[in-house]
Amino acid sequence: MANCELCEAARLTEWYHEDDTCWIAECEACSVPMVVWRDHGVVPPDDAVVHMQAELAKVGDRIFGHDDWFLDDNMRQIPEHYHAHARKKLPWMKK
Ligand SMILES: [Zn+2]
Ligand SMILES: [Zn+2]
Repeated sequence: MANCELCEAARLTEWYHEDDTCWIAECEACSVPMVVWRDHGVVPPDDAVVHMQAELAKVGDRIFGHDDWFLDDNMRQIPEHYHAHARKKLPWMKK
């Protein structure tokens, strides 16, 4: 897809993971790990979502520590291409 910065997949930041389904890199805007689907679209198949969330969980656990981050799949910046951020939990989110 032309003019989609997630399809472009420019390696401007550190890449943590890549495979045939997705890649995970530090988000340029947020400086947190972000998983990006390799296909351009909003709703990946269920097995792809499970896979991507599992891969993001590995990176999130490594960067922030187990249970110290949450998955944010609200796509504010680029709503037309599936991606999700791993963000550090704020103190009020912890039990
Ligand atoms: Zn795209
Ligand atoms: Zn971001």
